[in-house]
Amino acid sequence: MAEWTDRDGAMFPTLTAEQIARLAPLGVRRRVAEGEVILDPGTVPRGLYVVLEGRLEVVSSSRAGEVHITAHGPGQFTGEVNVLTGRPSLVRTRAAAPSELLEVNHTALRHIVQTDPELSDIFLRAFVRRRARIIAEALGDLVLLGSRYSAASLRLKEFLSRNAQPYTYVEVERDPGVQALIEHFGISPQEIPVLICHDRPMLRNPSDADVAKSLGFNVEIDESRVYDLIVVGAGPAGLAAAVYAASEGLDVLVLEGNAPGGQAGSSSRIENYLGFPLGLTGQDLAARAFVQAEKFGAQIAIARMAAGLNCSRQPFSVDCVGADPVRGRAIIVASGAEYRRLSLPNLRQFEGVGVYYGATSLEAQLCVDEEIAIVGGGDSAGQAAVFLSGIAKHVHVVVRGPGLAESMSRYLIRRIDESGAISLRTRTEIVSLDGSGHLERLAWSHRDTGATESRDIRHLFSMTGASPNTAWLQGCVALDDKQFVKTGADLSAEDLEAAHWPLHRHPYLFETSVPQVFAVGDVRSGSVKRVASAVGEGSVAVQLVHRVLAE
Ligand SMILES: Cc1cc2nc3c(=O)[nH]c(=O)nc-3n(C[C@H](O)[C@H](O)[C@H](O)COP(=O)(O)OP(=O)(O)OC[C@H]3O[C@@H](n4cnc5c(N)ncnc54)[C@H](O)[C@@H]3O)c2cc1C
Repeated sequence: MAEWTDRDGAMFPTLTAEQIARLAPLGVRRRVAEGEVILDPGTVPRGLYVVLEGRLEVVSSSRAGEVHITAHGPGQFTGEVNVLTGRPSLVRTRAAAPSELLEVNHTALRHIVQTDPELSDIFLRAFVRRRARIIAEALGDLVLLGSRYSAASLRLKEFLSRNAQPYTYVEVERDPGVQALIEHFGISPQEIPVLICHDRPMLRNPSDADVAKSLGFNVEIDESRVYDLIVVGAGPAGLAAAVYAASEGLDVLVLEGNAPGGQAGSSSRIENYLGFPLGLTGQDLAARAFVQAEKFGAQIAIARMAAGLNCSRQPFSVDCVGADPVRGRAIIVASGAEYRRLSLPNLRQFEGVGVYYGATSLEAQLCVDEEIAIVGGGDSAGQAAVFLSGIAKHVHVVVRGPGLAESMSRYLIRRIDESGAISLRTRTEIVSLDGSGHLERLAWSHRDTGATESRDIRHLFSMTGASPNTAWLQGCVALDDKQFVKTGADLSAEDLEAAHWPLHRHPYLFETSVPQVFAVGDVRSGSVKRVASAVGEGSVAVQLVHRVLAE
């Protein structure tokens, strides 16, 4: 790895004397001797350091030794996104000469990024560029040992990528040196995937929550506090609520069962979100929103699944899987929806090993020059077809209906029609899956003629209608007949009576049958299933949270 170059000066900018003077009253001066370590990998940074005099060296350290990344001279500063998120450092920083530093702690840094637009721009741009580079270089010594025949391997790859965590992936079937590694560590096939990091215990077939704990994703979360607002779900709706709530001074905690981004995070390209004419990947959108929410001081607990809502008493309490309950004075339910599963008896056996619910670059890598099938007639299926047709040998779009006009945007229908690499199979449904260890073949049947055809297709993308993530609400709030949360004017007098609605006023827009509990985005009954509407609802609900907290 060569020293990092910084062509436009945005990754390693030098602050002017005037900018340093603005920071100085918020920081503490500190002298360090040559060789003194300021920050070690695995430790949580106290904030950032501006070099006033001398020089700091940044190195990546691993079992194999240290590699020089960059040096910070006078006016330059340390840190990347983890300075905002409070996650452990991935690099070592030490004084390369006797130096004088200005230490700016988390609280002071948050204050600066919220109140000083010029410094906020400089810091955020540098942090995001540094993190992108860290990911590209897979810095940080984290190795994921996985198998193409293990669904958990794909799950963990997605979890790490969607949490912007750099790692090196080693596939058992592809890498000849891996067998020796497996023997060395005494790993059995059932224990794959394995996460190895030299300074932490090895994790064998871990859950997302195990990984989040080991990597210190949630070290800043304070379960003893009563938050103004708890948002459940960090999809577009929940992240928007977090950004607006935190920026407007509310003390907000977001619980996310998996990784930020929600369904949008599994999209290869979102082209209809206002302001992004060239489109952007769902992961890009989520990463930006995540940093934005952290910048304003929202706390986001990763791999923290809400398991129940106790809404009979104030403050509300939310039970979490494998962690202490958390308490809040208002709740925003933004737990979204997920694709319905095809009703095929052996479907689960192939999930992650041939059957997928998202079409990002991770799944795309598996489909190079292969024939694939996509089930579904909505925009997500259309996007996946267009994206994967550039990688796969051929894409079959399978829909039960007579065509796409009813369910898919025109621009996608046109692209599918014009592509020689995509075939549309209407009035057709998948009737069987087959394979050992991995999907090897599937069959589809024509609904009118009954004709059945078997194909050697190893990758099936299931993108059919969504069902809401409301099981965790356990009857706390009124739901519609499809289990979506009813809000505002959709709540009938009978709903409110059954829920013992205690107030004279009717529920506000997006308020559920329980006062101070709101629902936004795809989880809400009657919502438009779009990124823009989810973001809009999340931001509007925050205005109403202010109102109910003041009541
Ligand atoms: C592949 C794909 C492509 C798409 N493309 C587009 C597009 O181009 N344009 C467009 O406008 N829309 C698109 N959509 C639709 C859009 O992504 C959704 O409408 C939007 O993501 C809904 O946002 P949300 O925040 O309401 O819910 P979600 O995105 O569903 O997010 C909900 C979040 O809540 C979390 N969660 C669920 N249960 C719990 C729990 N109990 N505890 C804690 N967390 C929980 C989930 O892990 C998830 O992160 C696409 C969807 C998909 C799947």
